[in-house]
Amino acid sequence: MPHYSRAFPFSAIVGQDEMKLALLIAAIDPSVGGVLVFGDRGTGKSTAVRALASLLPPMRAISGCSYGCDPAVESAWCEDCRTQALQGALESVARPVPVIDLPLGATEDRVVGALDLERALTSGEKSFEPGLLARAHRGFLYVDEVNLLEDHIVDLLLDVAASGENVVEREGLSVRHPARFVLIGSGNPEEGELRPQLLDRFGLAVDVRTPAGLPERIEVVRRRDAFERDPAGFSTTWEPADAEIRRQIVAARAWLPRVEMPDSVLHRAAELCMKLGTDGLRGELTLMRAARALASLEGATAADDSHLRRVAAPALRHRLRRNPLDEAVSTTRVERAVAELFAA
Ligand SMILES: [Zn+2]
Repeated sequence: MPHYSRAFPFSAIVGQDEMKLALLIAAIDPSVGGVLVFGDRGTGKSTAVRALASLLPPMRAISGCSYGCDPAVESAWCEDCRTQALQGALESVARPVPVIDLPLGATEDRVVGALDLERALTSGEKSFEPGLLARAHRGFLYVDEVNLLEDHIVDLLLDVAASGENVVEREGLSVRHPARFVLIGSGNPEEGELRPQLLDRFGLAVDVRTPAGLPERIEVVRRRDAFERDPAGFSTTWEPADAEIRRQIVAARAWLPRVEMPDSVLHRAAELCMKLGTDGLRGELTLMRAARALASLEGATAADDSHLRRVAAPALRHRLRRNPLDEAVSTTRVERAVAELFAA
């Protein structure tokens, strides 16, 4: 078998429950708006993202399309696919769900794509070189150390992630294409801050730490070693567990539109946000969506307080006014507010 980078199995990741849950929620309902992962180096932040993406069923994509349009969703096709469809039946291929890395030094052209103005002027032909956002369509865009990225690039990523469309405009020329992806940003809070306005635009924020307990640390090392010595064998061992998670995600995506959101849960969500003094309504919206995705994951007919409680910290900890980056303090504040609210 050729040597290529095989992803570590998702189900073999030790601990990191909150991060795994946040990724599952984003995979079930990308409209929760991305995941921010805080933590030390070497805690396997990108491992978990790659593991999740490789566990997802391959997607059908229109052959030859730079954006990997979904043949089943005509309303979301790019211009090329629309034009092609007029000329005959489109063919499709199976592709793995993409995980695209956005390197820190990436220029705006590399991210959004580049319009060749010269060619447009001389030949009158619109020429567009798709960027990283095009490649991330229908998958994940991973930004390591997002807090070191220039603010205007982060802003741009958040805009496109929210709208699902990338629009490039230069000198009166414009190109637009679908770009629906889950934005995953990792960061070490000690190495530069994200502006509160940017923090608030991420759906969920989770904290990943080096495991504190001895048995857990040993298990992490044991599994990593087993994987590196025999990636194929290790993956085979964990495949049944991964397959079960895959089945749950596929079922949860299909079930999601039918999960009810009772008024009582919305009421609790709003109360919690008021208690914590979060600005705007993003907190409530994220709480609601994340609770619904979690309910769907569990096959529940309606979201309830237990779902709300479990998503409260990841949905709100980065929206608190004071110490937005002091994870420990923020988490404690959210937990205290949850305990008070649900005890009442
Ligand atoms: Zn297309």
